[in-house]
Amino acid sequence: MAESITEYRNLIGGRLVAAADGRTLDSVNPATGETWARIPASGRADAEAAVAAAREAFPRWSAMPALGRAALLRKVAEVFAANAEELARIETRDNGRILRDTLKRDLPGMTYLWQIAAGDVIDAVKGDTVILGPDTLGFTRREPYGVVLGIIPWNSPISTFSAKAAYALAAGNTVIIKPAEQACASVLRLGELLAGVLPPGVLNIVSGLGEEAGDALVRHRGVNKISLTGSTQTGQAITRASADALKPLTFELGGKSPNIVFADADLDAAAQGVTVNSVYTGNAGQVCVAGSRILIQRPVWQEMIERVTAIAGGLTLADPLDLATTMGPIVSAGQYERVTGYLEIAEKEGAELVFGGTTGAAVVPSMPGGYWVAPTLYTTTDNSLRVCQEEIFGPVAVAIPFDTDAEALAISNDSSYGLAAGVWTRDLGRAHRFIRDLQSGTVWVNTFRQMPPGLPFGGVKDSGYGHDAVLAYTREKAAIIQT
Ligand code: NAD
Repeated sequence: MAESITEYRNLIGGRLVAAADGRTLDSVNPATGETWARIPASGRADAEAAVAAAREAFPRWSAMPALGRAALLRKVAEVFAANAEELARIETRDNGRILRDTLKRDLPGMTYLWQIAAGDVIDAVKGDTVILGPDTLGFTRREPYGVVLGIIPWNSPISTFSAKAAYALAAGNTVIIKPAEQACASVLRLGELLAGVLPPGVLNIVSGLGEEAGDALVRHRGVNKISLTGSTQTGQAITRASADALKPLTFELGGKSPNIVFADADLDAAAQGVTVNSVYTGNAGQVCVAGSRILIQRPVWQEMIERVTAIAGGLTLADPLDLATTMGPIVSAGQYERVTGYLEIAEKEGAELVFGGTTGAAVVPSMPGGYWVAPTLYTTTDNSLRVCQEEIFGPVAVAIPFDTDAEALAISNDSSYGLAAGVWTRDLGRAHRFIRDLQSGTVWVNTFRQMPPGLPFGGVKDSGYGHDAVLAYTREKAAIIQT
């Protein structure tokens, strides 16, 4: 039976509104292939309205005592806690990320993140004092930028929304969020829930296509800072579009993260770490930090391949809204084409198929219209293959053997990306050397995909620069008083 369609609206100036010209985009449930929601297809007029509302709200919001802002951010945290189940279900229906992940991992984390951001308001107003001479006092003031634009992807809308909005608001900025057109219902629902919690115009949410709504916002002279979580190509497009106005940018972009298993590792933990918490479950590999290159030291190569094969074979591909499901679908028809295209590329390039691939089609009989891709593993000794160098963003891993530490490091760093890396070893000295030498924003040792608030999260090389934190949403002014 067809699902009933939910209509979502933008949040602009405290009001829930359709796009100015009434256009909408369909939001498809990727597990069924059916349209389940409609979202505003915003354009230039909506971008104008959102920027005007954010600019109007800025003077009062930035002048509010820091503890007043903190009290309101704590109220937002309460909204997350009170509506966790509903928000998690909306996000799972919208992007296919399994409910186990959205409900048990993301939502509790978000309540915590907004509480932490509320505590961070003090850091945002702290400055330095420099005594320059007996009659000369120097000091710094931290000031918000003004209007911050947060552009977020479809794979974890609630958490990327929170990472940007919470810290930018804590620092005294007003915010416009542009969620991704493929999946933004959870963020638009948050707009409904937060409309009466934050003063009008302090938080605005404008959905629509990247090249239309996103581009109009990026180019707007009334936007003072941009933070993007998305692909490297979009980061490059935004850099070009914002160059004339010299806007400060923060970019959290793509990755091709290595997960390195040494022969001395706890192989039980490593096998779980390179599969379930990385490239297969959770979001079917549609995770920026997915450990899509699994490097395995030769003495344990065979054993690890067998363990990974057994774990992948035990995954349950089914309705992501079912808590027993361990892997969901690919987010959209477009992304499905891209991922399955890479399976063909891998096989043409000569990567050896272990499981999945073009011949291992995933079948979920109760949901035949969904965008299902089977967990897939290839092996190769050639890290220059496209499937080793390009971000696939699906449940596709490539295993690469190595002998020495130097070889593992060289293969890991032979990538245009540098977002994250995993190291599985019992050798503490080696762990420290890899933490030092890996070209990567985060290095996990004997764990994977932990991203707690309080530690920076961002990349190097084509994976971006900067990260979402309260100080990233402030700039420093110097003052000198001569008496
Ligand atoms: P995307 O870059 O296509 O889209 C991201 C956002 O940018 C969307 O809201 C989109 O509408 C907008 N956008 C696209 N073109 C634009 C333009 N010209 N101007 C303004 N906005 C524009 O990425 P995606 O497909 O939504 O998400 C997948 C990508 O995001 C992957 O590369 C993944 O690695 C990355 N990602 C990174 C992180 C991280 O923290 N590093 C986290 C999640 C996802």
